[in-house]
Amino acid sequence: MTPTSAIHTAEQLTAILDSVPAGVILVDAQGVIRLANAQMERLFGWTRDELVGQPVELLVPRRSRAAHPAQRASYAANPRARPMGEGRDLFGLRKDGSEFPVEVGLNSIASEKGVFVVSAIVDISEREQTKALRQAVDALERSNIDLQRFAYAASHDLQTPMRAIAGFVGLLGAQYAEQLDDQGRDWIRRTLEATQHMQELVHDLLEYSRVDARPQRFERVPLDVVFDHALSLLQIPIAEAQAVVTRGALPIVLGDRAQLVQLVLELIGNGLKYRGSEPPHIHVDAERDGHEWRISVRDNGIGIEPRHHERIFEMFQRLHDQRTYPGTGIGLAVCRRVVLRHGGRIWVESTPGEGATFLFTLPASSQESS
Ligand code: ADP
Repeated sequence: MTPTSAIHTAEQLTAILDSVPAGVILVDAQGVIRLANAQMERLFGWTRDELVGQPVELLVPRRSRAAHPAQRASYAANPRARPMGEGRDLFGLRKDGSEFPVEVGLNSIASEKGVFVVSAIVDISEREQTKALRQAVDALERSNIDLQRFAYAASHDLQTPMRAIAGFVGLLGAQYAEQLDDQGRDWIRRTLEATQHMQELVHDLLEYSRVDARPQRFERVPLDVVFDHALSLLQIPIAEAQAVVTRGALPIVLGDRAQLVQLVLELIGNGLKYRGSEPPHIHVDAERDGHEWRISVRDNGIGIEPRHHERIFEMFQRLHDQRTYPGTGIGLAVCRRVVLRHGGRIWVESTPGEGATFLFTLPASSQESS
């Protein structure tokens, strides 16, 4: 017995077709639907009985109907299994008049009653939505990269003229101060201060745009080495503040070494800067929390009011004037960007007057040990 001989009746064929996860119709040489499976009812909203006996154009959007019979004829003249409308966007028309994107596969069956065309119809709305979403994400990524390149180029190119201005105003102050009155000398002093601040801003902006503009490959990075590196860079401010900086056991993580140094440097540096009346005491520690490490940098400084806990991580957000605490308001934005790039989160816990604890997470991977 051959497999096909198992099918004796149209009911048996329908039962088989009903199990297919696509809409299937059988269309005769005149373009009339002779058979429709259960999935067709779900896709198009017509019952099977409504469909059978109707021209197949019922399922085709009005704007494509006129051309459809000719396309059918051309397929009938050269019937072979193929996807319909290659390179064209095809749509199905539901009973309620709405349309949906479809993919259609065609094949033909020759019998003594003539040539029938079998169409298998798949609703590809979701695939189309995913495609549209992917395109939107791609466009967003491209504009983000453009913006990063712009920020990088702008801050990079600003450095040279800034250096020239600072240099010449410095020379003016050093060599012509005697020829100026108090007012003139005060203006030069203020110009120098503003220039220095601008150089810091440009420098910090460059650091910020570098986080994503110049990424290095992730490697195994022991955080205790990162800590030691940051400490050696902070040697002078630590000594000046008579600060004590300690650490607990720190893990090895996967990351960008230079950026992790930058992160720890920034957080310890802030602990030194936003000190209270006591000499600063800063402690760095790590705790395993499920699939991630939670790193904390705790200080005994002035602390931060809860209403500012979120916004201090945004660009240029500062809580003090330049005289009380100089700065650019970019440091914590850099920290957040570095942590995000490493797949973690960063936040602060603090009560004013009782110090601040900055916490960030980094994914823990099986290759690490503590
Ligand atoms: P900057 O230090 O240049 O102002 P940051 O982005 O590093 O910029 O910090 C933003 C603001 O968050 C600071 O101006 C300060 O008000 C607050 N801040 C940061 N770190 C601390 C800290 N350890 N203790 C108290 N306040 C802090």
